This record gives sequence, C-alpha cells and structure tokens, in this order.
Amino acid sequence: MLRTDRPLAFSRMLLAASALVLAAFGPGTHARQSAAPTIDHALEAITPAVVKGHVQFLSHDLLEGRDTGHVGYEIAREYVASQYQRMGLEAPYGFSYVQPFDLLVATADTGSRLQVGEAVVTASEAAFAPDWLGEQPLLEGQGVYAGYGLVAGDHDDYRAVTIADRVVFLLSGLPADWLADPERSLLARTKAALAFSRGAKAVVILQLDGTVRPVTRTMALADGSAPAVRPTATIGPAASRRLLAAWGVDPAQALDVAASGKPREVGSVSLRRAHAIEKGMSWNVVGVVPGTDPALRDQTVVFTAHLDHVGVGEPDETGDRIYNGTHDNALGTGKMLAAAEAMIRLKPRRTVVFVAVGAEERGLLGSWYYVHHPVGSTRDIVANINHDGGLEGPPPDDVFAFGAEYSDLGPVLGEVAEAAGMRLRTDFQSPFTAAQALLFRSDQYSFLARGIPGIYLMDGFTIAGDPERGRAQWDHYLTHVNHQQRDNFDPSWTFEAPVRMAALSVRLAWRLANADSRPKMRGGPFPQSPDAPLVVRP
Ligand SMILES: [Zn+2]
Repeated sequence: MLRTDRPLAFSRMLLAASALVLAAFGPGTHARQSAAPTIDHALEAITPAVVKGHVQFLSHDLLEGRDTGHVGYEIAREYVASQYQRMGLEAPYGFSYVQPFDLLVATADTGSRLQVGEAVVTASEAAFAPDWLGEQPLLEGQGVYAGYGLVAGDHDDYRAVTIADRVVFLLSGLPADWLADPERSLLARTKAALAFSRGAKAVVILQLDGTVRPVTRTMALADGSAPAVRPTATIGPAASRRLLAAWGVDPAQALDVAASGKPREVGSVSLRRAHAIEKGMSWNVVGVVPGTDPALRDQTVVFTAHLDHVGVGEPDETGDRIYNGTHDNALGTGKMLAAAEAMIRLKPRRTVVFVAVGAEERGLLGSWYYVHHPVGSTRDIVANINHDGGLEGPPPDDVFAFGAEYSDLGPVLGEVAEAAGMRLRTDFQSPFTAAQALLFRSDQYSFLARGIPGIYLMDGFTIAGDPERGRAQWDHYLTHVNHQQRDNFDPSWTFEAPVRMAALSVRLAWRLANADSRPKMRGGPFPQSPDAPLVVRP
C-alpha cells in the first residue's frame, strides 16, 4: 500500500547519529568537527568512471529501453535503489526507496467523434484526448474559431469574442515571426491552458501540416492529471482544411485570417470521446540526504532525472529495435547518482532529495506525482535541479539552464557557475531550439507548473575554448540521435562533460541547501508559489 504521509525517518536517524558521535568522542571534539568534509573534497566522488558505470548499465540492451510498464524499467528501478543503499542515502518509505504511483493508460480510441454542423471527424483523422475519469464523454456547445488563440502585448485573439462555455477551435503553432521571440515562442505550449482558464468547454487544435499521432498508450495519473494542459482534440491537416473551408476560411489564407484576429462563429458542435482505458503503474526512486539544521531540515532541495525511456519499436536500417535512451536519460540519471555520491559526503542544512522519476516520456507523470507526494510537504520544496541528457565527451565551459529566468535560481546559478570557472549562457533559443521547447519537455516543468523554482541544467556550447563547438553537437543530437534507436552506449566516450555538469549541480544544491533564505519565483507563465491555485485542472 502506498504511504506518502509517513513522517520522515531521518530526524530519528539524526538523533541516533548524534548520540553515537557523543558516545564515541564525548565533549571536546572540536578538532573532529572542523574536519567536516568540504565541497571540494565531496566533489572528488564524481569521476568519469562513476558516471560511465551507471550509464553502461542503464543503457544496456537487457533493459530494453526502460519503457513504462515493462520489466526493463523495473530492473532500472532496482539498480537505482541499490545504488542509493550502497551510498548510504536514507530510504523515505520504511526500508524502501521506491515510491509507486498509479496510472491510467488509454490503449485505443474506440469511437471518438467530432461533429461541426454537417462535418464529421473521427479518430482516423484526429487525436482525441481521453476523458480519463469518464466525466465528460459528450461535450456540446456553440463553436468558435479564434485564430491562433494567442494573447501577448497588444495582440489578443479573444478581444472580439467570449469563449466561456464554448468549444474553441485554434490553429496549432504560432505566426512565423513569433518563433524567434523566446517569450512568445512559449505561448504555443500554453494556448490550451489559456483558453480553458477563460472558461472554454473544449479546445480543439487545427493542425495544417505534419501528422497527428493516434492514441497509443497515452497516460495520465490515476486522478486524470498531468502537468501539461492538453487540448481536447487535435485535428490532422486534411480534416482541418475541410473544416476551415466549411467556415469560409480559405486554408491557404488561414494564417492571414488568424492574424486578423476576427473570430468565426462555426455553429453547434458535438464532441464525443471514447477510449479503452486500463490501469497501470510506475515508480519513482527516492533517496534522502538529511538536513542538519533543525530550523531548515524540513525544507528540501530536490534533484530529478527521469529513469524511463520509450522501450522497443520497429527495427531501424541496422536491425536495431531497442531505444536504449543512453543520453536520454541513462546519462542524466548517471549524473544525478554521481551528484548523490558527492552530496552524501556533506552535511547540508536543508534536506537534499534525489528522485529518479518514472513516466517522464509519458507526460512528466512521475515528477508531477512527486511534487504532490514529496518527502516533507509540497510547499517545503525549495527548488528542483533536473538532469536530462547532455554531452558525453569533452567538458563544456558554459551552461544553459532552462527555467532559470523564472525564479531566483538563475542569478544563484550564475554565481555558482562563475565560482566553478563556468559561465551561465542564455542564447540557446533560436528558431530551431525554440521549437524544441525544452522548458516544457522535462521534469523541471512539473515543479514550475506548481509554483516551485526549477531549473534544467544543460551543457553549454563552449568546448575547448570554441564558443560554438557544442552547437553543432546539439543540433546533430536533437536531429539524428534523440529518441532514435541509435542512441547507444559508446565505451570510448570520456564522460568529462557529465562530471563537470554533475559537480556544478552539487555546487548549486549545496548553496541552496545552506542559504538563509529560499529562492522565489520571478514571474513567467507559472503560479508564483505552491499555494497559488492551479489555473486549470487538466
Ligand atoms: Zn529526457
């Protein structure tokens, strides 16, 4: 049975440990105290061999891509738990490091259907979001087409229309000239949440190019929640063009019509969702380095790295059918485990928690669960530091940090990086990389979406003095390796980059764990504290 409200065991352990120290040394042990390990000593625990060992195991073919719901993930889970045990991290659940969570798994669309006037769209041309709890199988109302559904500066696609209680149709994506703007480029990801927050009954996205992926093992937590607010349905290009034509919008001019901001009434809409939904489960693996300051140790600094990947699929041209996810995210998990190996040598004032999260590839579900069922309380989570992917060879001299601009973590990391001889860099955004929207695509988002400062550390572009050398590596990785069968382990890698990034993350955590005050949120499209109500329940 899941126990998430169990009182922390580490205060008891701490008392026992203090008693032992007193018994062993009695009064007058100042010399002993002054020999407390320094951060530099602790960082000696992080070596290329340590990271390489973790990555070599976690990316092995025997784990078959660590997919949620498959035994390979469970082997990875037990590996991480045994590593925590070896290092001496405290287990938060009795003797266990394993935090189970229940899932809902939609395995197939069984007859979803959208009707707008005479036009009908079914699952062969659209992806319908499952109605997880069976609360709204049928949605009916007046429909309105509101262009891109964007509000920024003096642009407001909703200025001429009320969308409360209506079914809203929106074009996917953004106007081309918004892509290069770091702030505006994020809005493509938040438009469904914005429409729901204004009372929309359903949000239907019209996609004019590409393909729409049907529901196959789409997942949510057992309460139907996920950190990202998903549209009710996404319609593929052929059907989207049919609908637009029926509304008198020339698909070739759909972008212009959207830009004009003139909404179109589209008549009555009926949207029925039907899916086969099964129960599933997965696990986070949680280890604790207890804090030492009675006034601060209830607060936690939380490391995350997702342990899952996407399993097996069709063979590629070499016959490889295993998505080993070596960079994504055996490498990030290896960095986090190496960070734990250093942190356990230290005595932080606040508690530091290491969480290898499950079901990240299924919508950041393990981290979303953890945020709501943490060690301690949600409002006592001070910050999240996330490792996901990265470079595996020569070390970078600079670092990117997705999410840094939305909390005090940015300036703090800037100082910590400088002290470590590195530089915080902010120019990752480009039309290419903005489309990746990495801020939204890894576990720090689960924390930010709950109003908790979160940061995703990523190797910078400066390698061996060349400020652009890493850019080509990143572009190659994101285009040709990430989420492909060829993301395989290579024993010739030097693992210097992960050592530098893991060490930087420990320096950051050490600073956050010992500071008198905790970091605060600084705006952005997020709640500003965990106490703020969620804008929309997904
Ligand atoms: Zn990843």
